[in-house]
Amino acid sequence: MSSKITGIRGMGDILPDETPLWQQIETVLRDTVQSYGYRELRVPVVERTELFKRSIGEVTDIVEKEMYTFDDRNDESLTLRPEATAGIVRAGVSHGLFHNQKQKVWSAGPMFRYEKPQKGRYRQFHQFDAEAFGFEGPDIDAELIAITARIWQKLGLEAIELQVNSLGTPESRNGYKQELVSYFGDNESSLDDESRERLQRNPMRLLDSKHPEMQSLIEAAPNITDHLDSESAEHFAGLQELLDDVGISYTVNMRLVRGLDYYSRTVFEWVTDKLGAQGAVCSGGRYDGLVEHLGGRQTPAIGWAIGMERLVEMVRLGDKLSADSGPDVYFVAVGDAAARQAFKLTEVLRDNAPDLAIELNAGAGSFKSQFKRADKSGAAVALILGEEELESQAIGVKALRTNEEQETISWDEIVTALRTRLNQP
Ligand code: ATP
Ligand code: MG
Repeated sequence: MSSKITGIRGMGDILPDETPLWQQIETVLRDTVQSYGYRELRVPVVERTELFKRSIGEVTDIVEKEMYTFDDRNDESLTLRPEATAGIVRAGVSHGLFHNQKQKVWSAGPMFRYEKPQKGRYRQFHQFDAEAFGFEGPDIDAELIAITARIWQKLGLEAIELQVNSLGTPESRNGYKQELVSYFGDNESSLDDESRERLQRNPMRLLDSKHPEMQSLIEAAPNITDHLDSESAEHFAGLQELLDDVGISYTVNMRLVRGLDYYSRTVFEWVTDKLGAQGAVCSGGRYDGLVEHLGGRQTPAIGWAIGMERLVEMVRLGDKLSADSGPDVYFVAVGDAAARQAFKLTEVLRDNAPDLAIELNAGAGSFKSQFKRADKSGAAVALILGEEELESQAIGVKALRTNEEQETISWDEIVTALRTRLNQP
């Protein structure tokens, strides 16, 4: 026997027992965003490294130490996408989607970050993104948040809390940054190495530090709210009004920052205490400067990303969705001739009732073993074809989950009989 090839650390498989729940959640996400007018945009999993450097920023965890970067055979530096926004903006700029138009898009798929794998933190993980381009006012900020609130409600999630903040504009942030530099500079001996190094280049990142020794320092740091320009303050007040109007509760967290230059005004995060240390299920924000920064025309933009693994785990813990999967019908066929006829009957049945999910027994087997498989499949009804039935062109219909009696019918009655048994008009 050859040696086993193992998977890559932090890159999980999602097994058939788990995918029904994933699919249900994905359906809720897709249906909800689409009902608000968002359309799907699919972008490649690989982009030029430069795109992520320029959009996410050089002084960030992602670009400094988390990217999967490699040279392709033509010596071009490419990177597996660590997030979706950069690719979405790149696609929008290349295809002129933002020019004199408004766009609401969603996107979903795997992301890659070289992180220390742990519960809720993986090297391949999945995000579901929604982004809106060309909308300046706080109404779209509120709508994007309302969409997520509706998603939690549909999924039966309650223990999830909204935090919001405003970062103002890059200009209004400059004064704040200077204040941070001098504040943290005065306390330089208490900074961890990483923070000391980032102090000049990206001081807001320090507020994000998870270093235990820095927490009290961060707690007492100056507040960005005191530096908001009047338009940003108005925007932020407008967002809060709209959230109040629809009864979405939130807390203003002045320490919630995204230390990237193109971020502006609204930032928000949905957090839970149900998942241990990795409690952020969804984060989002406005990035009015990014489209221009990536070579397009100035276009206001805002979006969020849901971490799917964390969301799925939360739904699983809440246990509100019943993941009912499996076929409607399991076809038991015993004997070679019956199995051959069953294949034909099943294909005809699929022609006539395309909505029915029918699993045909494969790999032969006795009545007993086939019924075991039928039971395990989750099907509600079994069709039964043995030598006797084959001879008289009949078929048995048996309920697998109730005590209804088994009946024998002719082949042309199968659809009607199944509809009755499955309570389908
Ligand atoms: P964190 O502070 O947890 O590292 P982040 O700020 O890096 O999060 P974002 O880049 O905003 O996260 O990504 C959006 C969402 O994607 C997060 O809220 C989280 O739910 C999820 N996410 C981010 N990184 C991972 C990962 N390595 N594994 C699983 N989910 C992740
Ligand atoms: Mg991270």
